[in-house]
Amino acid sequence: MYLPLKAISLIEPPPNVSSLDWLPDNILMPVGTETAGQPFSLAKFPHCDGPIIAFDDPSYREIILQWATRLGKTVLFLSLFAKIAATDPHNMMFATSTKFVAGRVTIGRLYPILDSAVPHLLPSPHKRSMFEIRLGTCTIYVAWSGSVSTLADVGIYFGHGSEIDKWDDADSDEADPLELFFNRFKGFFGHKIALESSPTIRGKSRIEKRRLMSKNHRRYVPCPFCGERQILKKGSRESRGGIKWETDSKGQSDAEVAFQTAWYECEYCLKRIENHHRVQILRDGSWVPDGCSISSSGVISGVPVNERSDKAGFGPLASWYSLTETWGEFAKRWVTAKRSPRLLQDVVNSYMGETWERRQSKTKEETIGQRLNGKFPRGHVPVGVEFIVVGVDRQKRDGGVCPWVVLGHGSENRSWVIDYGMSATLPLVWENAIRQQWPLDGREGMMIATMSGIDSGWQAIQTYDFCAEHPDLLIAVKGSSGDLGGRPYDEKTLEEGRKGAGQKLIHINTDAWEEDLQNRLDTLLANEPGALTLCQEAAFDAELLSQLCNGELKDVVDSRGIAKMLWVVRDKEVPNDYRDCIRYALCLGKVHRDRPKELRTFTLPGRRDAR
Ligand SMILES: [Zn+2]
Repeated sequence: MYLPLKAISLIEPPPNVSSLDWLPDNILMPVGTETAGQPFSLAKFPHCDGPIIAFDDPSYREIILQWATRLGKTVLFLSLFAKIAATDPHNMMFATSTKFVAGRVTIGRLYPILDSAVPHLLPSPHKRSMFEIRLGTCTIYVAWSGSVSTLADVGIYFGHGSEIDKWDDADSDEADPLELFFNRFKGFFGHKIALESSPTIRGKSRIEKRRLMSKNHRRYVPCPFCGERQILKKGSRESRGGIKWETDSKGQSDAEVAFQTAWYECEYCLKRIENHHRVQILRDGSWVPDGCSISSSGVISGVPVNERSDKAGFGPLASWYSLTETWGEFAKRWVTAKRSPRLLQDVVNSYMGETWERRQSKTKEETIGQRLNGKFPRGHVPVGVEFIVVGVDRQKRDGGVCPWVVLGHGSENRSWVIDYGMSATLPLVWENAIRQQWPLDGREGMMIATMSGIDSGWQAIQTYDFCAEHPDLLIAVKGSSGDLGGRPYDEKTLEEGRKGAGQKLIHINTDAWEEDLQNRLDTLLANEPGALTLCQEAAFDAELLSQLCNGELKDVVDSRGIAKMLWVVRDKEVPNDYRDCIRYALCLGKVHRDRPKELRTFTLPGRRDAR
């Protein structure tokens, strides 16, 4: 029998209405928002597309927005209460920091949204409770972090945890209020947890912790001139790209001048993206998972970090992604706040949507990690890298484990730690690092190491033999205690009759490269000329950082009784494998640059090596 479409929809279970369609058709923006009285619209909040799609995607249980203010994150999730009540009624919860905020949001935002979308489900105004919203077939419970009782007992299907970084800290004898909130969802098949907040302090921020566990996305927008897509970022006077502004006639930063003159510099073509370009590029934005890149035509490729996570993260997203902001608004705030750490923290948290790094009470290693954090994903080649080398150490312990570091080299002595690891054998280092193809960060294309150096201090013959199999890619290296006549390294061919005869060996001037590395660690900033910049994961990797910092110059007396300064291991309990690998890789950068151009081998993947 033929059934018209309308009739089919009547006999089907609750329809899978797309939220992208439902919200604009049913929600009017509440009073007090920038677009009050108008329908919810992606044209006004284009960055809301990703979270809405994730809400409809059954593979996600949790949606996490680390967003600055004025981006519509609270209203977005409040609107989804109305959609669930209308299309698939279940019990829900709105939870926030304090009773006062809970009341304010319920009265000022939630009821008006429900009034616009599902007025027929609401009780008459004088019967409305502030903390338990009965909607006929379901209830929205309202909770706040200081009250265990509001967060306890009820079971819920959809919950919105709002401004979770402002929730009370857990008392010593109680669970974190966020854990209490999570407990509400147990046993609900298909439940959804929506979390949003502007962040607070790094390491303490709940929203950042959840986001880092998720399949996180960053917002890319296309340059109106060259079309290259990029994350909009603050930038600095020296940086390629970012928000820039003029100084006053004396070369000083001035809030009003900054406000009047600010523009955005494309990191690719360096052209000026002005305020009048903003609306279009923001509407053309796309969310790209961390670990993936997006081409200028908008094609996303690569493997997302935390690919199989059931959490979808979005952020950090700064207020300059709001259509109604201007570049100057940020520039002015930044220049004004720069003199006061308290104001600056507020700009970083509330306007930039980023966590604040506390300066005091950090270990030396943490400080170095944060200062050198290049904020690019591990295993990806950041902008600026011209060629890659791999430094490999060999350790007697664990049957000859091989730590390795993949180091990018760029202009003005810049270097980047792209990846690092421990492999059990040399052939595994070959597979994991030396012949690995490294995707370019944020762009299309791959890179492969041009040269790799392996320490021949232990099991020298095995190392020489391995290097001999790929003489143009691998070279044996060895630390030299002498000063090599002041040269940073010495390259020689092993003589006939010796082990490894005919092989090339590079003697590395230990002191020179210890000093070079120490300079990179001590004072420089990420991406500066001469700096060692770390991938995001390395910057937070306590083990790597402690190894990196495990060297110091000390007064010692040598075997002949002569006092001299010598580089020594600072803490003998901690290995310094990675420090050695990076030293080798820094030296290899110099070796590579010193070679005549025709001897610099650039091997295309798969061509040379068919093992
Ligand atoms: Zn451009």
